[in-house]
Amino acid sequence: MVECEYCGEEFSSDRELQAHWEKHEDELNSHEREKMKKAKRKIEEEKEDKLERRKSLAFKGLAAVLGIALLGFVVSQFVSFGPAKTSLEGQPMLGNESAPVTVIEFADYRCPYCKMFEEQVFPSLKENYIDTGKVKFYFVNYAFLGPGSTEAAIASECVYKQDKKQFWRFYRSIYENQGPESQRWVSKDLMVELAKNSTEGLDYQQLDQCISSQETLGEVRQDKQIGRTMGVSSTPSVFVNGKLVKNWRYSNLKSVIEKELGN
Ligand code: CA
Repeated sequence: MVECEYCGEEFSSDRELQAHWEKHEDELNSHEREKMKKAKRKIEEEKEDKLERRKSLAFKGLAAVLGIALLGFVVSQFVSFGPAKTSLEGQPMLGNESAPVTVIEFADYRCPYCKMFEEQVFPSLKENYIDTGKVKFYFVNYAFLGPGSTEAAIASECVYKQDKKQFWRFYRSIYENQGPESQRWVSKDLMVELAKNSTEGLDYQQLDQCISSQETLGEVRQDKQIGRTMGVSSTPSVFVNGKLVKNWRYSNLKSVIEKELGN
């Protein structure tokens, strides 16, 4: 501790004491006055330094918070939470890419209700909503009924691989030739024959090989996984803008779509 020789007040350092001399300015000699000014300047500089450091720390803190927020945003762009954001890239799609409503059908070619959907719902849906640019329609395999389901799905993926547009002809052709649910009617030969009858100009030998070697089994499994993620447990499962529409008859589907269109 140092004591002020003018008033007796105590200070913890020479610098503080010298700065305090300002109160006794009239009594100071020129040498002491210089020391007083220097001490005051030093104390001011230290104060400014402290302030700068505090600002810098605050900035770093803010940057860290912003960094975490940005990371969260980036992650949310790439990770999908819930059914609505499931990627449908690489799935057969009909309609305008920028259509406001997305309809997804999960189906098994051996399922009689899927045949019913294809014959009784799909044509009106196509005419009134898909072809008019209001709806884009995705087909995703959900092969789960047993022997033949996966083989038919594999065949349809093989056709899709060769010709994305003609896929829809083959899709219709399988339903047109659907056998009884209790029978094992799907075979590679039947699939190739249906493809030959419903499509044009494909490499049918390659198609035969694609089915035999189960080349597209990965796609079929991936489709099933998408279905599981979205909560599919039966076929057909029809989703409109990510929401399952249990009553997929045309009259109901139409009203759900109209609601999504804001009508
Ligand atoms: Ca698929």
